[in-house]
Amino acid sequence: MSTQAIQTDVLVVGGGPVGMLVAAELALQQVDVVVVETRAELDLRPRAGTVHARSLSLLARRGFIASTPPELIARDPNGVRRNRFQFAAQPVLTIAAPSVEPAPIAAIPQARLEAAFEARARELGARILRGHTVTGLRVDDDGVTAETGVGHPIRAKYVVGADGARSLVARTGNFPAEVYPATMNAIAGLAVAEVADQIPPGWNPTPTGWTMHNPNPGGQARIIAMDFSGPLDHRPEPSEAEYRRRLTHVLGSAPALSGISHLTRFSDHGRYRTTLWDGRLLLAGDAAHSHYPLGGQGLNSGMQDAFSLGWRLARIVNGGERPDILADYSRERVAHASAVVGNTVLQAAMMNPANPRIRDAVLAMLAVPAVHDGIAQLISGQFQPGFQHDFALTQADGQVLTLAGLLHAGRFVAIRPDEHTPVPDAPSDAVVVTGKVTPDQPWTSALIRPDGYLAATL
Ligand SMILES: Cc1cc2nc3c(=O)[nH]c(=O)nc-3n(C[C@H](O)[C@H](O)[C@H](O)COP(=O)(O)OP(=O)(O)OC[C@H]3O[C@@H](n4cnc5c(N)ncnc54)[C@H](O)[C@@H]3O)c2cc1C
Repeated sequence: MSTQAIQTDVLVVGGGPVGMLVAAELALQQVDVVVVETRAELDLRPRAGTVHARSLSLLARRGFIASTPPELIARDPNGVRRNRFQFAAQPVLTIAAPSVEPAPIAAIPQARLEAAFEARARELGARILRGHTVTGLRVDDDGVTAETGVGHPIRAKYVVGADGARSLVARTGNFPAEVYPATMNAIAGLAVAEVADQIPPGWNPTPTGWTMHNPNPGGQARIIAMDFSGPLDHRPEPSEAEYRRRLTHVLGSAPALSGISHLTRFSDHGRYRTTLWDGRLLLAGDAAHSHYPLGGQGLNSGMQDAFSLGWRLARIVNGGERPDILADYSRERVAHASAVVGNTVLQAAMMNPANPRIRDAVLAMLAVPAVHDGIAQLISGQFQPGFQHDFALTQADGQVLTLAGLLHAGRFVAIRPDEHTPVPDAPSDAVVVTGKVTPDQPWTSALIRPDGYLAATL
């Protein structure tokens, strides 16, 4: 077996959905990238299924999902679309998003996103090493050497830790964390419910916790037991026996189940790293922040990390920028993570059967429109300021483009109404486009970052 090091610009440790998306974003920018992932196959356990407004807009900026066609933007340029959503398992939120964007909410299984990100990363030339584990990292002034336990060290200029909540990369670097200890424990899984309505459909409060059941007559359904009698001291892989026990405890009687599979354990333990950058090491996804899955914000935050990090790290590796721009990545995403972890801690407290007063007090506050709208923006990721919503741009020759389409290539985009109007200072590889913008914007010309946020306006 050869022990010659594999050389690369960026090593991504962990090829879950976030690691694969980081790799795709880096490869889009012609960065040489290697992903090392322990799992030989895609992770099919049921986890994220809710994709929120800001993530959907970003996915559309890279063509992973369809963006709004220009004729629809022209037909309803200032419209708003709304979807009902829950907060702490109560159906009290309305998530609104501009009609020029894909949708306020979509149901896309995590495994489907992960597969799409992996396929894109491979297509763009990323090297994906499945079935290998990074066992150690040595950092020096010029880069990082990673041991993979298979005789091939990997030498990289930068390492991105997308290696989940127990991140080796986070433990290797100096990444302090804010931690909220667990107060409950839960197991999610797939199972066939043999007796209809024994586990009520949807969210179901009980004296000891909650169940959640997405019925699937005749087939495996997603069933979750959330037990608020306390956190666990040990967290072994969940077994079928423990799953049945927790459901029985929460429901008060044993449900008739068969075909149990894909068990995942979680709790309301919350943690976010207060910096995501330490020299040659970076964090993204659950390695950077992990929390109670209520509101479906974990993968959404991780995908947004990937879009925020990819182009910045590429500009450093490709030689154009100083590493200081990684501080902007860290600042932006830590602000996001602290707000997300905070709201999940609040949601867990509201769902605890011992806290009906906290639940009622927060629900009363959510009846205030401004509070409601702020929380809806937070859950949907739209509270992150400076995002440029999609628009149609009609060029002099009559061709109509959209911002989402222009951003597929991952470059800065400069927009101006005519050739005489200056644009903000732009990188030399920016795409400069001239034309009339619909709907009207509060700027005359603009420079838009590869991740769709405004860099500067005139
Ligand atoms: C029941 C449940 C429901 C959820 N619902 C939602 C939802 O609706 N919406 C939402 O946005 N989020 C949801 N989440 C959260 C979401 O699943 C996570 O945020 C998401 O998986 C994070 O992705 P990641 O790539 O950062 O980490 P992970 O998915 O944990 O991937 C990390 C990868 O790193 C690999 N790895 C770890 N260490 C190493 C190493 N040393 N070497 C090589 N590989 C390594 C692992 O094998 C793993 O594949 C839910 C979670 C749960 C448990």
